[in-house]
Amino acid sequence: MLRLTRVGWISLLCLAWGVPSFSQTRARLRTSDTELVLEAGTAAPRLISLAFPGQPKWENHASESLIASVDISGKLVPVHWSFNPEASQMSEQRAVFVYESASPHLRLTWEWQTRQDYGPVEHQIRIENLDPGEIWIPMQDSLAFNWQVDPQANLEHLFIEKGANRPSSIGTHQIPLNDGYQWTGTSSTYGDLSDNEPREIIPWSLVQGSPDGSKVGTQTGWYAGIEFSGRTRISIGREKDSLHVAVGLNPDPAPFRTRLAPGGVFETPVVFLGGFRDGADGAGNVLRRWVRAVLGNPETWRNPNYPLVVNNSWGGGMAVNEEIALRMIRDSAELGVDMFHVDAGWFRDVGDWYPNPQKFPHGLAAIADDAHKHGLKFGLWVDWTQAGLSTRPGALNARDPKVRDWMVTDLPAGWKPEPFKGQTIDLGVPEAKLWAQHEVERIVTDYHLDMLEHDGYLVAHGCDRSDHPHAAPDPLNKCIYKSWGAYWVDSSNSTDVSYHAVRAYYDIYSRLRREHPGLLFEICNDGGRMVDFGSAAHGDYFSITDTYDPLSNRRAFYDTSHVLPAAMLESYVEKWPTPRIENFRYMLRSGMMGWLTIMTDTNGWSPEQHAEARKEIDLYKKELRSLIRDARMYHVSPRPDSVHWDGIQYWDPDRRRGVVYAFRGTIEGEKTHSYALEGLEPSGRYVLKFYDHSAPDRTVTGQDLMTRGLKVALPLPNSSELIFIEGAGH
Ligand SMILES: [Zn+2]
Repeated sequence: MLRLTRVGWISLLCLAWGVPSFSQTRARLRTSDTELVLEAGTAAPRLISLAFPGQPKWENHASESLIASVDISGKLVPVHWSFNPEASQMSEQRAVFVYESASPHLRLTWEWQTRQDYGPVEHQIRIENLDPGEIWIPMQDSLAFNWQVDPQANLEHLFIEKGANRPSSIGTHQIPLNDGYQWTGTSSTYGDLSDNEPREIIPWSLVQGSPDGSKVGTQTGWYAGIEFSGRTRISIGREKDSLHVAVGLNPDPAPFRTRLAPGGVFETPVVFLGGFRDGADGAGNVLRRWVRAVLGNPETWRNPNYPLVVNNSWGGGMAVNEEIALRMIRDSAELGVDMFHVDAGWFRDVGDWYPNPQKFPHGLAAIADDAHKHGLKFGLWVDWTQAGLSTRPGALNARDPKVRDWMVTDLPAGWKPEPFKGQTIDLGVPEAKLWAQHEVERIVTDYHLDMLEHDGYLVAHGCDRSDHPHAAPDPLNKCIYKSWGAYWVDSSNSTDVSYHAVRAYYDIYSRLRREHPGLLFEICNDGGRMVDFGSAAHGDYFSITDTYDPLSNRRAFYDTSHVLPAAMLESYVEKWPTPRIENFRYMLRSGMMGWLTIMTDTNGWSPEQHAEARKEIDLYKKELRSLIRDARMYHVSPRPDSVHWDGIQYWDPDRRRGVVYAFRGTIEGEKTHSYALEGLEPSGRYVLKFYDHSAPDRTVTGQDLMTRGLKVALPLPNSSELIFIEGAGH
């Protein structure tokens, strides 16, 4: 085996590709955290190894498993891939290995790319049909590999649940990955449908440990994630000396198949693979920064007021009207929030996304303009993929003959939408996509929006149609049922349905972004059911759970913040019993670690609460927001349980400034708690400022804060403190 430096390698490559007998072509891609060696074999490519620089290598013993046959006119035709060096490309940031099949005529592109000089490396496979006729291809994973591991090696698996409807009692799973381990985590846009089903994961997994069983000084390993919102899965299994991993679309229910028209291209979901050190927070601090730089919207992050503070109308439910909205705008301005957000209840009907004239006699643009006059941005909730029964012009009527076929199945005669939820249309149908594209464009323009929130189930859950671009359902093995007032279909085409619908959704939002720079997108899908890296690349912030009490907010934040930038993580703060002002602050701060949206009737607050909220919002804007945006973050307590203490730490090493959010639970005996802080310099000196004056300010060493810990004392259950940390030299 030739070991080459990167520069040496490129020059040899040019030489080597002119020599047909040189059958093994290698490439090396590297960031400060991830070193990958790739090989183009004659019949298949292979990820050779991954390492965090200077740490033991993870070596892969399996070539990429490329599709071995296709279906042409109902006949199974074998595919023989061969490497095409002339078509392949290689640079310091990119390795593209091209494989071709002569008959059927197909081209497969196996691509790896570094998009920052730190963090993970992205990977995608594209299969192009160069035949004159239609071809059906089976499941192609985004990435599959088989690490060689020492049977004695201690490995640990970390994965994160979506906050979905309500965060579960675990959320962040950190479990031993022993011999015999078999695990599959799935993600779709539906989250947990019942308590009996396994929870959906944020499509990401981390494995910590050393493959050769050595005891490494720092906690290193690798992680992988999926940049796609359709039905995906990650599976991990360990057997003796082998750790096999598959990442990509969810192949179940099998058999997956997808159509390739002549000239058509199938693209596997982009996945990323990275090395890390310093445990889960070490991985998170690199990954969050990478997500911001690579997937985030530069226009959004350029706004120094991102993440925004929002006042949302759902505190009063569907009752919102012009009078309530104008009153909320005045109060929002008085409280100092950045945006007024009208939630469900403003429209004529589901699918009929025009302001209800009884509630908004002067329309919605007048409300937006009033918000703007008060210095606020204006956001709007729209369930824009949902059809109802309104027959007014412009409405999406499920019974309209032009629209009927966009539904995933024929709706029975008695079907009716719910108050704010209808039947999802299949966005994978070109006419449906076009309608939705025009509709969201109209809504954004006509109602003067600064933010568009989508909700409901945006992506069709399966589809019974055989005349849509996706594969037809299996007639002998399909299930049609009603859930949340809509019809859903389960069959072997479900993953392909989601593949087409999600790509259409991404197209619509990419176009909206181009045409409305600065427009914000909130990703809400019945709460936190669409929390994934594909959404992160197409939206600006996530509703991370659909349950809004302090514990649920802190749990969902604790989990999700392992992998996504805190600024993108929205907590809705709803009404909660706050007999004392300390409880009120605790409630607010439980939603102030990321993006803060207040969802309670603020006019119902007492003058004292009002003044307190105003002060906290001011603090958020002046002190906390910049840390939430830019600082490193550490999970310095176990996951919140509302009984014991919990907390998180932000620390910005450049500004030498940070904060610890401390939350005290209900247990009577625990009046004090010590947080072992992270990321500080042991010899550095730090000034601690207790914002609520629960203790006098003091100066301590980094060593002290990281070993003995930051001690906080709070006399009352369900109370909190913010401790600011300032570097004070050495
Ligand atoms: Zn369909």
